[in-house]
Amino acid sequence: MRKEKISNTALGWVMSEYEEQENLRELVLMLNDYSGASEDWKGKRYGEDDATRLRRWVRVWRKSGHDFLDLEKGLESSDIEALNRFTRSIRAQVNRTTGRMMILDYTTDEAAFQFNRLLNNSRQNLLGGPCRRCSKWYVKKTRRLSVFCSPLCAGNATKTNSRANKRRKKVGRVRSAIRNYQTSSGKYAALDWKEYVTKAVDGVSKNWLTRAVKDGVLYPPKKGVRHATN
Ligand SMILES: [Zn+2]
Repeated sequence: MRKEKISNTALGWVMSEYEEQENLRELVLMLNDYSGASEDWKGKRYGEDDATRLRRWVRVWRKSGHDFLDLEKGLESSDIEALNRFTRSIRAQVNRTTGRMMILDYTTDEAAFQFNRLLNNSRQNLLGGPCRRCSKWYVKKTRRLSVFCSPLCAGNATKTNSRANKRRKKVGRVRSAIRNYQTSSGKYAALDWKEYVTKAVDGVSKNWLTRAVKDGVLYPPKKGVRHATN
């Protein structure tokens, strides 16, 4: 299937300092939101699914080193389509006095909204997380590289680092198991993907997989592309 390109999001979307900080605050709230489907849209502009998508996009964007082409390669087509749908929906106007672009209207997609703002946020490097100890996303005070949200979490760094390494290796094994699953045939192909992966990788439970998908770490394999060879 041909993959759409991400349409140019650099719309001259210049944010004020306040808007940039607001964007960081709102991103962190949403990224840390695991309240579940029963809390969807309650006093907020998004549901559980949107938080999952945002976590996935931010992770892929991080991994891409903020490189646009790599971002495109790392995202699945459904995600790119959602981002483009949002971009296309934006109606903007240049304010004649300030010369700044004003956004008049856009379709409701809170994940795409916050993510687009992040891409145009001059303070984007202040988005920190997930913390290696408590897994929370946070706003950093300086642009310095940090892996912990607080001195408290940094306290027991050695133990945490080895745990993080183990987790990274586990994620790698799970990813390749998912790839194998998508090309498997015979009795393995009949298994549910979580069933398959828990059999293929030691120390992985179905709950662990569910959480990893919600964290935005894994794309669940899609139905219909299972036996694709490319
Ligand atoms: Zn922490």
